[in-house]
Amino acid sequence: MNDEKCGFRDSLWQATAAEEAHYPPLGENREADVVVVGGGFTGLSSALHLSELGKSVVLLEAREIAWGASGRNGGQVNPGWKMMPSETEAHYGRDRGRRISRLIDGACDLVFDLIDRHKIDCAPRRVPYFRAAYGARGIDEVEQWVHEWGAMGAPVRLKNESETHQLMGSTFFHGGMEDARGGSVQPLSYCRGLARAAAQAGAKLFAQSEVSGIERAKSGWRVTTGKGVKVNARFLIIATNGYTGGLWPGLKRQVVPLASLQAATFPLPEKVLRTLLPQGHHLSDSRRMMIYCRIDETGRFQIGGRGSLFSPARQQADTRHLQAEACKIFPQLKDVKWEFEWGGLIAATRHHVPHLIELDKKAYAGLGYHGRGVAMGTMMGKQLAELIAGEDVAMPREELSPFAFYPFRNIGVAWHMFSGRLMDKYM
Ligand SMILES: Cc1cc2nc3c(=O)[nH]c(=O)nc-3n(C[C@H](O)[C@H](O)[C@H](O)COP(=O)(O)OP(=O)(O)OC[C@H]3O[C@@H](n4cnc5c(N)ncnc54)[C@H](O)[C@@H]3O)c2cc1C
Repeated sequence: MNDEKCGFRDSLWQATAAEEAHYPPLGENREADVVVVGGGFTGLSSALHLSELGKSVVLLEAREIAWGASGRNGGQVNPGWKMMPSETEAHYGRDRGRRISRLIDGACDLVFDLIDRHKIDCAPRRVPYFRAAYGARGIDEVEQWVHEWGAMGAPVRLKNESETHQLMGSTFFHGGMEDARGGSVQPLSYCRGLARAAAQAGAKLFAQSEVSGIERAKSGWRVTTGKGVKVNARFLIIATNGYTGGLWPGLKRQVVPLASLQAATFPLPEKVLRTLLPQGHHLSDSRRMMIYCRIDETGRFQIGGRGSLFSPARQQADTRHLQAEACKIFPQLKDVKWEFEWGGLIAATRHHVPHLIELDKKAYAGLGYHGRGVAMGTMMGKQLAELIAGEDVAMPREELSPFAFYPFRNIGVAWHMFSGRLMDKYM
């Protein structure tokens, strides 16, 4: 895996994004109510909401704003999270579970409200999310989703096999479900827009300012950048997700970083565009090794999925398996040329749901979105801000619980992918 060589610069989003404002490196010592480490959706949303709540904020990003997964993802604003509402209640208890499900229910709205309120130029589209079902297991899953989220009043609808074929322009899947809470954005532009909104609200954002040390100070926390410049703050937020390093003992082992890859075609010819996802849905599917795809505002087909981030032979992300999969699902793509391939790191957690972790007194981390961080990362940032402002938030404050077998994670990931592919084929 080599994330430096095949990520941020190679993406479709770099070619089509709104321009970035300049954020300088931290040049002198500062004081703030809150210091935030990481300039993606989580960190920026927390900075924005904290500033709106009247707190002074310094945000430090190691590279440039949106450099992590937030500037590279599929741009799908996905509703829900991995657990069904009943599983959420079983896991967290009935009352807490219900609160969490209601919070998650509003996560997509939060993204589109922020875009509206701060006039973020990021090609927002509120076309339903589609979950394509493969086989009997997939049909069970979408039926349960519609049953449970529908009971909570969510705008969800099952689609039978022929409706699915029609809305996808493909006969590959066996049914599915439409969830109108979802939508899509140009993710790099959305992230840059969040940064602009946070800065306008008063947050001080610094790029090229990698945090190299965190220590307790009289007033709260003192973080030091690689250049020896310091920020003293009463509260600390770590928002480094799949790029979490050794800053805080045990935090790196809380999540397993996984490579997620993307490929995008040249703009599609009109005759192909007419036949492929003709109603504008963005989708993912129910297989264990699922793909997700959509057509962006420039008419490019874009697909994402798992894989190895770096092919040493090609010196770039290797997405040939995704391109082949795209042509298998949508045969109309077989003569189309691919223009972009890139990748980044997501963060997997034990129960496949995000964690808000209380690291210590007045020190928090929010991470582990399992590839659903556009809506959930934005929501987590807001929850962190409200928690620091003294509100009683829905996300539970958890303790650090690092993976015991972290040193063997790559073996676990390889096994998971191998067995997932086998089960997708035969079960
Ligand atoms: C290829 C790909 C496709 C995806 N597709 C989707 C999708 O379609 N829909 C969806 O909802 N989610 C998707 N995701 C997941 C989503 O992008 C992430 O969950 C989300 O961006 C996480 O945001 P974040 O702010 O928590 O972390 P990140 O955006 O990863 O930001 C973490 C930041 O922390 C910085 N950092 C790390 N260490 C330090 C330090 N010591 N000092 C200062 N800064 C530091 C990093 O440089 C980085 O910029 C995808 C992810 C990838 C990689």
